[in-house]
Amino acid sequence: YKNAPTTVKDMLDAGRAHGDAVFIVYEGEQLSFNEFFRQADALAHQLVDRHGIEKGDRVAIAMRNYPEWMIAFTAVVSLGAIVVPLNSWGQRAELEYGLSDSGARVVVCDEQRYRFIDDLLPTMNVQAVVARATGDLGSNAVHYADFIAGGLGKPCPVFSCEAEDPVMIMYTSGTTGKPKGVLSNHRNIVQALTNFEFHAACSAMANPKAIEHMMTCGHAPKSLLAVPLFHVSGCHAQFLLTLRGGRCIVMMYKWDPGEALRLIEKEKITIFSGAPSMVMDLLEHPDFDKTDTSSLYTLSGGGAASPPKLNRLLEEKVTNFYAGAGYGMTESNATCSNCTGEAFLYKPRSSGTISPIVELKTVDENGKDLPRGEKGEIWLKSPTNVSEYWEKPEATAETFHQGWIATGDIGYIDDENFVFIVDRAKDMIIRGGENIAAGEIEACLLEMAEVHEVAAFGVPHEKLGEELAVAITPQPGATVSEQAVQAYVKSKLAGFKVPTYVWVREEELPRNATGKILKKQLQADYLKQHG
Ligand code: ATP
Ligand code: MG
Repeated sequence: YKNAPTTVKDMLDAGRAHGDAVFIVYEGEQLSFNEFFRQADALAHQLVDRHGIEKGDRVAIAMRNYPEWMIAFTAVVSLGAIVVPLNSWGQRAELEYGLSDSGARVVVCDEQRYRFIDDLLPTMNVQAVVARATGDLGSNAVHYADFIAGGLGKPCPVFSCEAEDPVMIMYTSGTTGKPKGVLSNHRNIVQALTNFEFHAACSAMANPKAIEHMMTCGHAPKSLLAVPLFHVSGCHAQFLLTLRGGRCIVMMYKWDPGEALRLIEKEKITIFSGAPSMVMDLLEHPDFDKTDTSSLYTLSGGGAASPPKLNRLLEEKVTNFYAGAGYGMTESNATCSNCTGEAFLYKPRSSGTISPIVELKTVDENGKDLPRGEKGEIWLKSPTNVSEYWEKPEATAETFHQGWIATGDIGYIDDENFVFIVDRAKDMIIRGGENIAAGEIEACLLEMAEVHEVAAFGVPHEKLGEELAVAITPQPGATVSEQAVQAYVKSKLAGFKVPTYVWVREEELPRNATGKILKKQLQADYLKQHG
């Protein structure tokens, strides 16, 4: 393996070999590998020429899924600079936080993001390059097309970089607090991609039905990018893998299950992966049964808990391809356990078996290893793990321990090496000294036929400390009453786990970009409405 790439820069460069093949399909547009690199090189050239960007400088990206997102990523990495993908769902305050936290000097953004922060840029000393803008921009911004024009045809500036050099600050989802910047080096990401590819190959080999389907479906691998690019699932597992493999990626600007089904049929998509809630949206869509999905050979959901109903739907509806799930986190750059094909059907509630390059164990409250089968906090060791948060020494000391990540997730490993994620350590409701895992209440209520979505959370209580509340969205056309919910939980779980407050809502539950329910927001809304 003497010539195996050790940096993300080398890996991206491998994509250049694919020339005029189509790399990106976005709405009516198509971009070949050549055109992609032509723009990336021009952008890199201009970042150096106009802004003096060099190795180690931070350049942020704040845009929805546009081809320019991937071009900007490639340009920044090729300079040996540090790319900072910001959450494009973020509003003004969140973007401001990301820019100032990372100390980015330039932000490549779209017009909507730019309008959120344009007046902040001069005080923050950040320059903006704005893609697809139609309006006039102020003096702190330039149109992307004008910006790259000066660099077209000029060679990409060359900076050397090494496997241990930092390459990216990617932010966590911010489920348990403010998002943390995860500082990856080149090696972490190169290993992560190898890991993703290994999983794909293994799961295919383990599933004869999938291999047969792949051989007969006769379509080149093509993935549908329906998740945002600013998380591992979109950036590494889709964009970077596709580029390295010289394959094609079909982009969606934003999630829309009906449109996704249309694209699967029209573009003959072979790989779909998203949050579990998105896979559920697809399977429950009225057009699913009418859509020709025969090109698909992978349908997977990961990154958040998978509701039991989804597993049932997959078993029921997915016959011609294989389904799967995975467990991972931003800090690990990759899924650390994966479950696909036969293994998924065998243990659909599990997050799969541990990846061969990963060590995964459970520990007790004192950090002492627990025997297999015992529930505790999951710790991970992997070459894909980063070793620090960007400029957050306290959080770094709390989470990273000699190569191990203390994940804050509660789970166990069964006797066949399958990992089960039960809950988050921080997602416990403590009612009068009794610990209630939100995940247990949610899993229980999702089994109730009338329930579409549910979130369990604590509300402050004078005597007990916390009381248990659940927010529920009923199935279309169904009704759910407080009494029925309480009676259902009572018939399944211990009395102290019966929710005191049942909040039945019309609207879908609010979710973040990785498909996780925004519990803090839900709790605040509940308290506002119900005192
Ligand atoms: P923050 O760290 O800022 O609070 P976050 O942990 O939600 O946010 P991410 O890194 O995007 O940010 O998500 C990783 C987390 O997602 C894991 O630690 C775990 O809690 C959850 N998760 C990932 N995969 C699964 C899975 N298969 N089942 C259950 N939970 C999962
Ligand atoms: Mg986290």
